[in-house]
Amino acid sequence: MHPQQFTADPPSTDGTPRTYDVIIAGCGPTGAMLAAELRLHDVRVLIVEQETEPASAVRIVGLHIRSLELMAMRGLLDRILPHGRKRPASAFFAAIPKPAPTGLDSRYAYLLGIPQPVIERLLEERAIELGAQVRRGRAVAGFEQDDEGVTVDLADGEQLRSRYLVGCDGGRSTVRKLLGVGFPGEPARTECLMGEMEVGVPQEEIAAKVAEIRETHQRFWLRPAGVGVYSVLVPAAGVSDRAEPPTLDDFTHQLRAIAGTDFGVHSPRWLSRFGDATRLADRYRVGRVLLAGDAAHIHPPIGGQGLNLGVQDAFNLGWKLAARIRGWAPEALLDTYQAERRPVAEAVLDNTRAQTELLSTEPGAQAVRRLFTELMDFDEVNLHLLEKITAIGIRYDFGAGPDLLGRRLPDMDIKQGHLYGLLHRGRGVLLDRTERLTVGGWSDRVDHLAESTAALEVPCLLLRPDGHVAWIGDDQQDLDYHLARWFGKPAH
Ligand SMILES: Cc1cc2nc3c(=O)[nH]c(=O)nc-3n(C[C@H](O)[C@H](O)[C@H](O)COP(=O)(O)OP(=O)(O)OC[C@H]3O[C@@H](n4cnc5c(N)ncnc54)[C@H](O)[C@@H]3O)c2cc1C
Repeated sequence: MHPQQFTADPPSTDGTPRTYDVIIAGCGPTGAMLAAELRLHDVRVLIVEQETEPASAVRIVGLHIRSLELMAMRGLLDRILPHGRKRPASAFFAAIPKPAPTGLDSRYAYLLGIPQPVIERLLEERAIELGAQVRRGRAVAGFEQDDEGVTVDLADGEQLRSRYLVGCDGGRSTVRKLLGVGFPGEPARTECLMGEMEVGVPQEEIAAKVAEIRETHQRFWLRPAGVGVYSVLVPAAGVSDRAEPPTLDDFTHQLRAIAGTDFGVHSPRWLSRFGDATRLADRYRVGRVLLAGDAAHIHPPIGGQGLNLGVQDAFNLGWKLAARIRGWAPEALLDTYQAERRPVAEAVLDNTRAQTELLSTEPGAQAVRRLFTELMDFDEVNLHLLEKITAIGIRYDFGAGPDLLGRRLPDMDIKQGHLYGLLHRGRGVLLDRTERLTVGGWSDRVDHLAESTAALEVPCLLLRPDGHVAWIGDDQQDLDYHLARWFGKPAH
């Protein structure tokens, strides 16, 4: 059941700002996902988005296994699947062509190729459906926080008030800059031009030439992206003036320089430029203001991880921030957001740094690439790299305990169907094979599933709303301690 949709506050007549529980700056995938997660817990959310229309640049992004699992946990996957194309879970690491490793422990072990504007639209629609408000064409320009909340200034002069502000406003985040949070890392070393356009030569001719060039140039492609339309990627070096949007001439110049032909490209749909700058925010939270998604981390798109990482930040933060607003969050819960997610981003930055090196045409880098290509024939190496990119290998540090503690629990069959079906409402779940434990006074936040048939190798476990294992055991007293650790004081 969906929470009640709340209606917009009436315009204030006495000059006091409209108030919300949470204001989110930016309606990209991270902001929209966060809003939906908060609405599961009846939090009053406003998204302020500077663009009047959703983005049009059609980056085909891939939803990796963990993101597909999150969508399944909230009942969203069936809505998303018809818009994407399932591809094998392989060849993600530095585009080294290897088959998917055996032993991938997920019901959703594939990549879903889907245009970014489509996933953004679906997430925004879902947030609105659950009752979030989205105001487009309005930009967050300033804010001031105090003990009770944050006063947010919009660029048009309007003032709003909320208990928390979350900057999901992308790599150039205004919120992060206004917070004064450092964003150290490396500036872009290489930039690429990307766009969609029509071509003037037959498909076979393009395919043969592209295959030949990609043996040495990884930052180059022409891929079919619709009837007669191709997605084109070329290096920007030499033609790119960062201050100006790229032109079709920039593309034809680069295509001729690399391929000896411009393939007769014409009629561009859209053209864009991106770089491989790699940066990580020093802090994810300052008081009542938080950062998530590209606002907190940027890195090269190799491996297709940025959107996935942002959506997963939102999934980690949503229930914790909601708990804070609902009044039951244990004191340190909100701090676990940075403690858990910043190291994950750090690791992603590192794997993109490594992959970028492997794309270089330098002889040394090419030799390392050949070595990696050999090593990935070992299934364990292949699996290790794939678990990194798809985020299913993450283990949060919840203290000493079995290996499963802190990891995500894969979906599994249970009496009622499948486990992820029980997580749609964003609540905790006690999965109890002993069938004698209880969630007692936490039953308003945690569901109890007495389930002797579940394919678990442990007697009982507590799942957080984000599907990570928060406790394993069979002792009621120990369970109560951990229920309080993650879900605060019992209601009765
Ligand atoms: C070529 C390319 C390919 C990529 N491929 C992949 C891929 O395959 N897989 C993947 O996971 N990722 C991929 N990415 C990365 C992905 O696009 C980003 O990581 C993702 O868009 C980040 O989402 P976000 O919501 O955090 O930020 P954004 O998408 O940048 O959204 C931020 C939003 O905030 C708004 N905003 C900015 N400032 C303000 C303000 N002051 N007030 C209000 N609103 C504001 C912006 O208009 C925007 O809508 C790719 C990136 C590129 C460039």
